Amino acid sequence: MNIHEYQGKEILKNFGVPVLRGILAFSVEESMQAAEELGGSVWVIKAQIHAGGRGKGGGVKVAKNLDEVRTYATNILGMQLVTHQTSAQGQKVRRLLIEEGADIKKELYVSLVVDRVTQTICMMASSEGGMDIEEVAEKHPELLHKTFVDPAIGLTQSEANDLCRKIGIPEASVPEGSAALLGLYKAFVEKDASLAEINPLILTGSGKIIALDAKFNFDSNALFRHPEILAYRDLDEEDPAEVEASKFDLAYISLDGNIGCLVNGAGLAMATMDTIKLFGGEPANFLDVGGGATTEKVTEAFKIMLKNPNLKAILVNIFGGIMRCDIIAEGVIAACKAVSLNVPLVVRMKGTNEDLGKKMLAESGLPIIGADTLADAAKSVVAAVK
Ligand code: ADP
Ligand code: MG
Repeated sequence: MNIHEYQGKEILKNFGVPVLRGILAFSVEESMQAAEELGGSVWVIKAQIHAGGRGKGGGVKVAKNLDEVRTYATNILGMQLVTHQTSAQGQKVRRLLIEEGADIKKELYVSLVVDRVTQTICMMASSEGGMDIEEVAEKHPELLHKTFVDPAIGLTQSEANDLCRKIGIPEASVPEGSAALLGLYKAFVEKDASLAEINPLILTGSGKIIALDAKFNFDSNALFRHPEILAYRDLDEEDPAEVEASKFDLAYISLDGNIGCLVNGAGLAMATMDTIKLFGGEPANFLDVGGGATTEKVTEAFKIMLKNPNLKAILVNIFGGIMRCDIIAEGVIAACKAVSLNVPLVVRMKGTNEDLGKKMLAESGLPIIGADTLADAAKSVVAAVK
């Protein structure tokens, strides 16, 4: 699960990582009130969407007076903000963070990810923070310093000090820098994050260390023990099809292609998508209906897939192990009747009561294209799209 920058900063603050004063605003009027309440003479108007690259996309603006606050808030609120992390249509801005302006001397970078290969938590840091970190990582990987933290021990003071020195934090500010890194590490572990990033972490003119941006990603499997994190969920930022699917306990991920996939089991779903691609097609979604795929679940899955305007055909690929194929056939028939199917449907079933299931589909009178092997099924559905 993703959260907004201002929410990430609330977490950082609770773990002792310095952040600037900022106020959330949902309207231009609230933005003006926020700026007046913050006082000072420089404010930063920051679009809150679940994507990075906002600065480059025009979603972060520095205002030098209240008129500029009004202008920027007016321009940014409601805009479709396009960044390298959003889709081509961009993401609609519904919230702004009005923050005091910082006196930036140097923009640094620090992040944490779970590194599965080494089974550690990898802390990365760089002297070259800011909006071009992707380019730094690509062209100057030597400027990205990595520390692999043993999760049983945790980030140590000396590891934190070392990283601070490597990224050029002046000696006088190393204690503050280390405290920030240790706070970030603690937040990451205690909140079950899978990714945390402060870009930029800044060094100010007076030698202070402050987090100017905050990005967190949380392990969804751990959310049950963090209601306070779950409360940060913003459904406006999530794919509506995925939100709908989660209500029915369907594992659904939207993709860019046009072939809908309905499969039981995540591994089989991955293999199905691979096979579609192998034969020149593009999956419109990942969908695992799970082991106990009831008629209701299958119907909802069809409804969700059919809402996708790009959808050109559907491939159902079911292995009847615990689930019998005749039950699945019943579900598919009921679902097709309930949703007025308007695209070609290819169904492949294998396993328990396969023959009975196939017979039911054949006798249903529905225009279902049967297939025996996965390759046949993929070829048929790709042909149906063309
Ligand atoms: P994104 O990473 O999505 O582009 P950031 O929050 O990192 O958004 O902001 C982009 C840039 O805007 C930062 O690298 C920094 O230079 C500048 N910036 C952000 N917040 C402030 C602030 N409070 N004061 C001054 N400059 C800021
Ligand atoms: Mg940033």
